Amino acid sequence: MSKIPVAILGATGPVGQKAITLLDQHPLFEVTELAASEGSVGQIYGERVLWKNEVPCPDGIAKLKIIPLMDVKSKFVVSALPGDVAQTVELALAERGHIVCSNASAFRMHDEVPLLIPEVNIDHLSLLSSQKTKGKIITNPNCAAVFLVGALAPLMKLGELDHVSAVTMQAVSGAGYPGVASLDILGNLIPYIGGAEEEKVRKETKKILGQAGKPLDFGLTVNVNRVPVLHGHTVILHVKFKKAVSAEDALKLLQETEKSVPNFLKVYTQLDRPQPLRDITPHDMRVHVGRVRQGDRPDTISLISMGHNLVRGAAGAAIAVLEAYVQRFGA
Ligand code: NAP
Repeated sequence: MSKIPVAILGATGPVGQKAITLLDQHPLFEVTELAASEGSVGQIYGERVLWKNEVPCPDGIAKLKIIPLMDVKSKFVVSALPGDVAQTVELALAERGHIVCSNASAFRMHDEVPLLIPEVNIDHLSLLSSQKTKGKIITNPNCAAVFLVGALAPLMKLGELDHVSAVTMQAVSGAGYPGVASLDILGNLIPYIGGAEEEKVRKETKKILGQAGKPLDFGLTVNVNRVPVLHGHTVILHVKFKKAVSAEDALKLLQETEKSVPNFLKVYTQLDRPQPLRDITPHDMRVHVGRVRQGDRPDTISLISMGHNLVRGAAGAAIAVLEAYVQRFGA
């Protein structure tokens, strides 16, 4: 059976590169078109791209010519465009009938656009019926929000959330290429990430954990930090419930999810795990969770969540959205 063609927009950036390697040898999809900025159009991908991936660029992909964004023909499109470019291009492509699975923030908070983690809120695909365009836009979350949600979603069975404090330590690859200057980040921590990162994490988390069209109402304080880690965003969570809860029950729920939802959670009981350098792999879709323990009151739990920001936090998340769409609506 022939595979379903997919176009990558923003193919030369770190997220685009990761999407290419994740779709290489994919059982359903194959990358047939690569699009980037005007400065790249007409050039051979392998000659133009500054390849920064842990695995080599597939030969067939390296030979493709880069085309303009609006020249893509494939029905299915994975977008790794900057937000401002995505705003106009993704909508124009959806109007032309394309199914756009987007990493960009442009449409994540739009009322009619699903912000999807298929393992958590697949029912939010129902929002697509309100999009009036011939094609559709589906988004995946901010690269830190996904790890916050991954840890919180199973814990919601413990009881109603009252307030969550989330402190992130985000890898440099989350800032694109060339990203943060080495003189600013080496041996350092920057307690701020621009582009309203904290607000994005806060609003997106509530949208995903809520019902379709109705964000979950709970207190959420987010503090973001950039750290000198190559790949792997870590989130430190302090979760306060509206009633007393136990760390044993929290761990049990996370372990049950690890068993029942394939390739979603990896739960650690070792005191010094998870660690970005030690625990993530180049194609890692798992949310790594550990240090699950009682807070300083009976209604609080502390834990750590971590994962590959370019895979589960970006390109892999868009591909999971693409798979979920095809599974639900066909190709
Ligand atoms: P990036 O390094 O900025 O890459 C941008 C890509 O977009 C390149 O292929 C670039 O092509 C293209 N591009 C830039 N300006 C363009 C224009 N005016 N018209 C057409 N194409 C243009 O970004 P990235 O880190 O790969 O991220 C891509 C998107 O995913 C962003 O929206 C980002 O916020 C989001 N995201 C990133 C992460 C992460 O961990 N990095 C995680 C989640 C979401 P040229 O090479 O031709 O300039």
